[in-house]
Amino acid sequence: MYNPVVFNEEICHGCNICVEICPMDIFETNPVKGRPPIVKYPDQCAYEGVCWDRCPNQDEAAITIIPPLPMRVSILRGKL
Ligand code: SF4
Repeated sequence: MYNPVVFNEEICHGCNICVEICPMDIFETNPVKGRPPIVKYPDQCAYEGVCWDRCPNQDEAAITIIPPLPMRVSILRGKL
């Protein structure tokens, strides 16, 4: 299954801001405190990026959104 969001386990400290802010509710809090969230519903991701935008460790790439290939092509062509 395609994973739309990847966490850097070295950087993400599991603050769960992304879990709370995601409008599609795709994440689940990791049962292990201090660990990155779990992407529970990857098919529901809308790629709107609020999780990335609100992450306090965004500059260190704690979270990365990986759009599917057709969407990446559209972005490069300026269609999104
Ligand atoms: S990715 Fe960022 S916002 Fe989400 S839990 Fe990790 S540090 Fe917090």
